[in-house]
Amino acid sequence: MADHRVLCWDCGKDVENPYADVCPSCGGLLTIKINLEPLKAMKPKDLKMPLGVWRYAALMPVDASKRISIQEGGTPLYRCDALGKEIGVENTWVKYEGANPTGSFKDRGMTIGVSRAAEIGAKIVGCASTGNTSASLAAYAAKAGMKCAVFLPSGKVAAGKLAQAVFFGAKVISVDGNFDDALKIARDLSEERSLYLLNSINPYRPEGQKSVLFEIMDQLAFDVPDRIILPVGNAANIWAVYKAIIELEEIGWIDKIPMLTGIQAEGSMPVTRAFESKSSDFTAEENPETVATAIRIGNPVSGRKALKAIYGTGGYSVSVTDDEILSAQKLLGRKEGVGVEPASAASVAGAKKLREMGVIDKNERVVCICTGNALKDPDIMISSCEPPIRCSKDLSEIKRILSL
Ligand SMILES: *Cc1c(COP(=O)(O)O)cnc(C)c1O
Ligand SMILES: [Zn+2]
Repeated sequence: MADHRVLCWDCGKDVENPYADVCPSCGGLLTIKINLEPLKAMKPKDLKMPLGVWRYAALMPVDASKRISIQEGGTPLYRCDALGKEIGVENTWVKYEGANPTGSFKDRGMTIGVSRAAEIGAKIVGCASTGNTSASLAAYAAKAGMKCAVFLPSGKVAAGKLAQAVFFGAKVISVDGNFDDALKIARDLSEERSLYLLNSINPYRPEGQKSVLFEIMDQLAFDVPDRIILPVGNAANIWAVYKAIIELEEIGWIDKIPMLTGIQAEGSMPVTRAFESKSSDFTAEENPETVATAIRIGNPVSGRKALKAIYGTGGYSVSVTDDEILSAQKLLGRKEGVGVEPASAASVAGAKKLREMGVIDKNERVVCICTGNALKDPDIMISSCEPPIRCSKDLSEIKRILSL
């Protein structure tokens, strides 16, 4: 476990209350400061565990010997030549987070977050969620033997995600309202310590999510890519990747910083709008709408941190339309055999668009993080593809259909 402290990202004060999700003094966002001094003597070859979140236990703020784990992380980094050719970026890789235990990168944050919940003796964990957070939390709560309550906004939760939350035994409550309303309820309950909140506002979650960046570097033998592209919803993940980059740079494992590039959906783009106006803060959007439900967020909790991550790496932000998202999803499936949910395809759609805009150079080495599995949202796949062909048992008719 890394020596660390929890502090306010805005005013810098230490925060002692383990249930606090914002700064008690100024209301600012929390973060975790890892003491990197002892790590400066360490080298990548000193890492002994297999690829996965816990390989990087030395950079994590919880005790690995007491971990709640379902073997998260260790996901493939695919070299995608056929996809790269289509989008005009020859050196394209896809980090496939759909291969995590519950099918999204959320498992990386939850193994650390639920281990922390166990450490402070929490008996009930909870979250508000557009789907994947609840699916993941429900699984880790089951593993830890804790009770779990999840609050979903009414309507529009992808079938696979809802199925997982109920299957793993969480109490699932569908709140009459949007994501922000659901989050308010979860935070109120956490404030009175009725549950331990595991939304990404919890500073332990991004600590686990740092591991996706550590793995990418490991998989590329620390030959740092030029750019890392990912979808942005509540914006904790892009912040986690940024934090990981800065930590690796400080301990001397990397000597270059990849440009962090955040993609949003056109109907839900507060961070991209802020980037377009060169602002370090964003304006919340009232009624976010997109087919990519995992990033349908109008008031991103970590939006200011995302902007810091983008500006701090010389990165970029752009929005893509639902049509662009769905074509990118299909392209990745049909050129590489990799199935991702719509939000994840936003990173590929963004790569294509930024190449067309000339922001991405054709020789750049680009990693797209594809955050979740296609099976999370089967309805989208079915409705955006050709339906099955109905036919009799007649062999000649079947041959005609197959042009044999
Ligand atoms: C949660 C999630 C996102 C968005 O991540 P943030 O940290 O909220 O920006 C993107 N894609 C998928 C599949 C997700 O589950
Ligand atoms: Zn503060």
